[in-house]
Amino acid sequence: MSIFEELGVHCYLNAEDTFTSNGASCMGDETYRAMREISSSWVDLAELQRAAGEALARLTHNEAAYVSAGAASALTLCAAAAVSGGDRDAFLALPDTTLCGRDEVVLLTPQRNPYARSIAASGAKLRWVGREGRGVSLGELGAALTPRTAAIFYFVYHGAALCPPLEDILVLASANGIPVFVDAAAQLPPAENLWKYTELGAELALFSGGKGLAGPQDSGIIVGKRRWVERFLALGAPHEGVCRGSKVTREAIAGLYTAVRVFLSEPEEERQAKLLRKCELAGETMRRCGFTGLRIEPKGPVGQDSPRVTGVPDGVDAQTLREALRRAGLLVGCEGGRLSFHPQMMSEEQTKTACAILEETARRMKEV
Ligand SMILES: *Cc1c(COP(=O)(O)O)cnc(C)c1O
Repeated sequence: MSIFEELGVHCYLNAEDTFTSNGASCMGDETYRAMREISSSWVDLAELQRAAGEALARLTHNEAAYVSAGAASALTLCAAAAVSGGDRDAFLALPDTTLCGRDEVVLLTPQRNPYARSIAASGAKLRWVGREGRGVSLGELGAALTPRTAAIFYFVYHGAALCPPLEDILVLASANGIPVFVDAAAQLPPAENLWKYTELGAELALFSGGKGLAGPQDSGIIVGKRRWVERFLALGAPHEGVCRGSKVTREAIAGLYTAVRVFLSEPEEERQAKLLRKCELAGETMRRCGFTGLRIEPKGPVGQDSPRVTGVPDGVDAQTLREALRRAGLLVGCEGGRLSFHPQMMSEEQTKTACAILEETARRMKEV
């Protein structure tokens, strides 16, 4: 009996997005193998974390790297490491910040998004700069930096058009001796983003392991300066404190490391060619079903280099079709009356199965 039958749980193909609620991505064979291998014996977790971090740093052209329990957990850890100043007593007292000399982190209001609560979870006070719906200037950001500022958090995608370029923020922050941490959780592909933000001057950049990297869903990677990674090793889980609930298993460390190695072994042009081929399969299917206004969007939902196909279905509204597809076992997106098919998470075989479901369902919906 399959686990689906045993638990009575539905099984889907995911052409929507790397949403955690959908299970995000599927891990590759090598990643599973590494996880299974490490799970059948024991390790010194600190030794494993350090060794995997060093290997990941080399792979990603960074000074240092650390495996976290996902990108949200990385936000909490980075904030805790910043406000505590690396002091053990200050760290152990978090989320109480009484012992922290610098207890604030600065964020840009146009970038407001729910993940910022993971920063607040550390105890750090969130200081938002700028007003809702308006642009923020570099001058306003500079004026918000005080002796209590421990770090600036910058989200790559959210509100980018209303914010100064990251490059300018990095110059300002550096002149004030404030570190900048970049949340690039869903900014893969392209692979070069694993080193782009830190090469620009961010102290740290963090990524989700379960999205573009196709690693374990409960893993993430933080890359950047060694002094921060040393703090994570000294203070992060399994040590006690505010990040204890974000513990990383040996399976997640082995899985994330392998996923990054596999991800980086594929030349970016090949990855893009494969993604485009899957988009073309979906696009041809949609054309046969009478979709109009079909186009391949070169970017994924948060601006990553991950093409998807969108179009307006024939004879049925997009949301109704989307719901019917879900009942048939296929998850797709829907925005402004357009159905969106994002193949990044699926193999070519899975994409073909997804196309067959799409064709069947769209034809049936047209008939009724
Ligand atoms: C998905 C996402 C996260 C959370 O990532 P997890 O790995 O699921 O914890 C954080 N920040 C941003 C911008 C994201 O898109």
